[in-house]
Amino acid sequence: MTAYEELSKEELLELKSKLEAEFEEVKAQNLNLDMSRGKPSTAQLNLSMGMMDVLTSDSDLKCTEGVDCRNYGVLDGIAEAKQLLADMMEVPKDNIVIFGNSSLNVMFDTVARSMTHGVMGSTPWCKLDKVKFLCPVPGYDRHFAITEYFGIEMINVPMTPEGPDMDMVEELVSSDPAIKGIWCVPKYSNPQGITYSDVTVHRFAKLKPAAEDFRIYWDNAYGIHHLYEDKQDYLIEILMECKKEGNPDMVYKFSSTSKISFPGSGIAAIAASDANLADIRKMMKIQTIGHDKLNQLRHARYFKNIHGMVEHMKKHADIMRPKFDIVLNTFEKELAGLGIGSWLAPRGGYFISFDSMDGCAKAIVAKAKEAGLIMTPAGATFPYGKDPHDSNIRIAPSYPTVEELKLATEIFVLSVKLVSIEKLLA
Ligand code: PLP
Repeated sequence: MTAYEELSKEELLELKSKLEAEFEEVKAQNLNLDMSRGKPSTAQLNLSMGMMDVLTSDSDLKCTEGVDCRNYGVLDGIAEAKQLLADMMEVPKDNIVIFGNSSLNVMFDTVARSMTHGVMGSTPWCKLDKVKFLCPVPGYDRHFAITEYFGIEMINVPMTPEGPDMDMVEELVSSDPAIKGIWCVPKYSNPQGITYSDVTVHRFAKLKPAAEDFRIYWDNAYGIHHLYEDKQDYLIEILMECKKEGNPDMVYKFSSTSKISFPGSGIAAIAASDANLADIRKMMKIQTIGHDKLNQLRHARYFKNIHGMVEHMKKHADIMRPKFDIVLNTFEKELAGLGIGSWLAPRGGYFISFDSMDGCAKAIVAKAKEAGLIMTPAGATFPYGKDPHDSNIRIAPSYPTVEELKLATEIFVLSVKLVSIEKLLA
């Protein structure tokens, strides 16, 4: 394939009119496709339908502690759900608290509590002139939305193939006491699918923050969301690593079963040191008398244990893998060598991250929309929605059917080609 940059103006114009004709053909089909949000498909949701039959009116609804799950009580979560999520999050059962249906909600509450009441006795952030968070980019838009909502200044830290640029993280965290946190999606990151390397995790655990209330927000949303059985990423467990390095309180770890059972109807948890959990419980016991124990019981009885969950995730992978293959194979066939975009092939998670030529991402997303394809808005993967290069686009292949995804990828590729040609001709 000849790189577009090497084509003459005449060749580019000729190619443009050919691609425009193809684009008009697709447009005429009046399609309505969505590759914007990382939602499981209907087929994936169907995998967990057995959970609906686990609890019936005849079921014994007492958890192992002997508490009737229909009633109030058990603030931390029932023992069997704690065990299941502790194993999923690779932490001791005593270092976990089960929350409600959303880990994002737990992250929001964690920032909110730090704003109003501080972290383990330190000054509430709302009383400080400036509070800052480090944001590895590209990253998860809803993380950035939380910190933006609370008026926290966000600082971009570039991602590398091994995780965030740790030279920059170390330098900033150790020199600026206004930096109180960093958003991390350490495994199969959103959107690049990158897993932090051993060196990166070691460097995180060894950080020497200028702020005593600095915390790593370790959102391990995709910890067991592999695409392949024979090619899986491995992530060092951060809680233990921080403890070993004498920094036991430096990390909050979040996760949920949203993309294992039902998003919005799963269970979420936080894992942290004893001291952090004691601090968290102070608010929690005012906030609630306890979360949905019937849902916890349903999850624990359905999956039985972590092995049941791992087996279940293989079924998700069987549905997800062909979809990732469609996008990646099409990119390889249609875009490789053209010099108009780059992408990574993740081994898990929910996304593929695409980088166009600088200044093209917004136009590509707009072009795709003309043909009926909704993409995540360009810029969403950066704080304040501002991608300094206007180049990153997040692709979420999970929700459309295989047939829809083939069409969607075709539209996307055509949009990339057309916008890139326009840029080169400008
Ligand atoms: N964290 C990451 C990195 C995500 O990608 C998502 C959903 O896309 C969430 C958290 C949301 O999790 P929950 O449903 O538990 O709130």
